[in-house]
Amino acid sequence: KAKEHGRNRLQYHIHRPDAAGVMPLSEQEELRSAIGAKQFFLEYQPQVDVASGRIVGLEALVRWRHPRHGMMPPGQFIPLAEESGLIIPLGLFVLNEACRQAKEWQVMGLPPLTIAVNVSARQFGDPALAAHVTEALEASGLEPQWLELELTESTLMHDVPRGLHVMQALKALGVRLSIDDFGTGYSSLAALKTFPFDRLKMDRSFVEALPRDETTVAIASAVISLARRLRLAVVAEGVETDEQLEFLRQAQCHDAQGFYFSRPVGPGEIAKILARAGDRLA
Ligand code: C2E
Ligand code: MG
Ligand code: MG
Ligand code: MG
Repeated sequence: KAKEHGRNRLQYHIHRPDAAGVMPLSEQEELRSAIGAKQFFLEYQPQVDVASGRIVGLEALVRWRHPRHGMMPPGQFIPLAEESGLIIPLGLFVLNEACRQAKEWQVMGLPPLTIAVNVSARQFGDPALAAHVTEALEASGLEPQWLELELTESTLMHDVPRGLHVMQALKALGVRLSIDDFGTGYSSLAALKTFPFDRLKMDRSFVEALPRDETTVAIASAVISLARRLRLAVVAEGVETDEQLEFLRQAQCHDAQGFYFSRPVGPGEIAKILARAGDRLA
């Protein structure tokens, strides 16, 4: 009976593919089978210590090699994965693969780097998240201090007491927590005040117009000094030019990430970059 009801609901949605918040069933099925078919893989983008030019971390970014559409950026499927709940198995793949790869690089003798993994709202709401993180660390042998989880303020502000509880559980595992896309939400300062972050990722929109635009300069400088006062490490996202990097250096921003250093690339390319540059990119 329940099954019957479920089927009707699905058909209803199929005939209304534009219904708000509902993903067409065909795409959902495609996404589900893509997980099984191993069409997802990770690219990594270096994070660089601004003062020394050393690579200090890598952000793992998921990609879908679609059999017909080719390479799909996450913006085209993460929202669908969120809606359908498929972000849970997909996120599990990302977490496990990122930890496995980070440990492999360590074993190869590369200097240990922090690996940053994006965690979406639905994953954060999954009561099994802390257990999944523990399992990924145990399976890979990666020590927890090398794993960073990137969270966004909207994920947390939605239910503050629960957000705090989950963050404390994650911190107790020894992993680091960062606030991603800082400054783009409605309650950025409240999120900083409330939650125990280790790092702040300043959104690309506050880096883009540096150093020409006065307003951007004022905001970026303030965010960097605010973070420093709160003893959070600051990472500037989306650094593309010399001038931006020079501004960030002057403003004493700790770390930077962006096309200026490297686009997100596959694991083989990361190993080459590290070999070529020593561990320096700037
Ligand atoms: P994000 O976490 O803020 O990741 C940074 C995005 O900025 C990446 O886009 C990266 O390629 C892009 N980027 C880096 N440097 C530059 C630059 O200098 N200029 C410009 N224009 N862009 C730059 P990408 O890989 O398309 O990912 C987009 C978003 O998708 C991510 O934003 C993140 O929110 C989400 N995402 C990616 N991978 C995952 C994942 O494994 N799990 C979850 N839940 N979300 C993911
Ligand atoms: Mg991120
Ligand atoms: Mg970001
Ligand atoms: Mg972003």
